Amino acid sequence: MRRPNAAGTILQALEPMAKKLTELEARTLEGVAMPVAALMGELVMAARAAARRGTELLLQQAAAVVPAEPSCPACSSRNVGSHGFEPTSFIGRVGRVELSRRRLECGACKHSWFDFDERWRLPAGDYADDVREATERLSCRLGFREAVDELEHLWGVAPDASTAQRWTIQDGQRAEQAVAADAKQHWERYEQRAHAVAAGEQRDEARTQGFGVIEVDGVHVLTWKPGQEPRKGAASNTKSVVAAVVEPAAEGHEPRKVAANDTEAVGAAVVEPAAEGHEPRKVAANDTSVPAPTATSVGSESSGRVDHQAPSTLSQVAGSPMGPTGRSPRVRGREVCMGLTYLGEDACEESPGRGVLLERRYVATLNHREDFWKQLHAAAQAQGVLARQAVVRLSDGGAYFVDRSAELFRDQPLVGILDIQHGKQHVWEAGHKVVADKKDLRDWVLPRIDAIRDGRVGSVILDLAEERERRTVQQQREAIESLRGYLDRHQQLMDYPRYRKAGYPVASAAVESANKRLVGRRFKQGGMIWSEGGVEAMVALRVAFYNPGAWGRLWPHAAPTAAAA
Ligand SMILES: [Zn+2]
Repeated sequence: MRRPNAAGTILQALEPMAKKLTELEARTLEGVAMPVAALMGELVMAARAAARRGTELLLQQAAAVVPAEPSCPACSSRNVGSHGFEPTSFIGRVGRVELSRRRLECGACKHSWFDFDERWRLPAGDYADDVREATERLSCRLGFREAVDELEHLWGVAPDASTAQRWTIQDGQRAEQAVAADAKQHWERYEQRAHAVAAGEQRDEARTQGFGVIEVDGVHVLTWKPGQEPRKGAASNTKSVVAAVVEPAAEGHEPRKVAANDTEAVGAAVVEPAAEGHEPRKVAANDTSVPAPTATSVGSESSGRVDHQAPSTLSQVAGSPMGPTGRSPRVRGREVCMGLTYLGEDACEESPGRGVLLERRYVATLNHREDFWKQLHAAAQAQGVLARQAVVRLSDGGAYFVDRSAELFRDQPLVGILDIQHGKQHVWEAGHKVVADKKDLRDWVLPRIDAIRDGRVGSVILDLAEERERRTVQQQREAIESLRGYLDRHQQLMDYPRYRKAGYPVASAAVESANKRLVGRRFKQGGMIWSEGGVEAMVALRVAFYNPGAWGRLWPHAAPTAAAA
């Protein structure tokens, strides 16, 4: 073993810090004042330089050590010799780190390799995992270009936006696989246990006080239709950087055109599915710094920038490819399946009317609908929901969710609740059609809503049946019948006084805010159109970002944060 050279190493590593402190001290003694923020900034930069130096020095020492009895990874021969040192470098949060390490060569099969790289997990690419993780942490919340700009500002180190996208796709898929593997494992264990309980070999565990909640909803994201994604190639088409994009028309406002160079609107980033084997590419609307297609190659495989014939809102223009809604026929809205699970006691009121969930788990997917249910079950289990005396399922009453969850949680003490807001909305909609004079609208609607809230749904249904007979206008009769049918179908999910007494939530505010938090914020910024692969990967990454413990499992290197240090 080599003798440690602690004193020398420490002094060398600390040299930038010592120099900076000496310099600052001299200025201070001269009576020069400086803003404290600037003082701290300078010291942090010196500390960063010291950390970079320390890393290099330690790696240099480590690389000098001859590994004890190395064996060839190709043929397991012990006849391994050293073949001299070769330089390499990588970029970490402290900057570019350079080192030399030994190349080993097998005397038997001539295989040669860097044992050091593997043992010290040197990155295969340019960047170490700390930069990669930080990039994705930011990309989870910001557009890719904003994310790398921000990281550059904070750490002085960042990849380019297309690298950020490629990483996001790769690690999003990694996150997705981790969740799927968890769910599979959970499901196998759960089924085994259910069998054992059914066969009387095992006793069902006693349930604990309180209730858990499961909510599911769908949230729209704009995606390219399959086969309609922006194509790459046509590198000579310099017009391709001009990307105008359309806002979701579904939300009711007039589609707005976001022109290229519109600095207000940020980051329409479109991620291509990496599964198809090409490098993910970015279509940047209004990104003026994107070079012309011929200028650079985004990744090793891609031949050029995207030729993006942008959808526009030129639906009024003769010969325009746009449909009457102003949305390109190449774009469609797709629903991300969202699930949320939490314990009753974790739903708190932060301030009157403003709820907050202290702990919760999300499940979300675009295309893996079947796996979604197993993942939801696994999340409910992990959250402790399936051990409670009641499992509340709150929904908008959609048949798909009601049926699937009834099946999924059939061995649970399931309490189905219809989101009361949906119920009220149906009454208002019917009221608009039934009441001729708008000033009578409230008088028609409010007593019915009160009755529903007070658990008198049955009498509202009877009352509606009578009223239908009295009405003569066909449209009014139909509106009343439609409301009556709706209440009749969901009556068993509308025992609101009982739910309130038990403390159950009666409105699905939690999943609606989860929709915004998990999906809306990142996917529905002005002008964003996503590839389906991009949605899937980013959704998975954001689920990992927000779910307890998931991010740390995805990034075992566990970059120490300033707060932890
Ligand atoms: Zn060998």
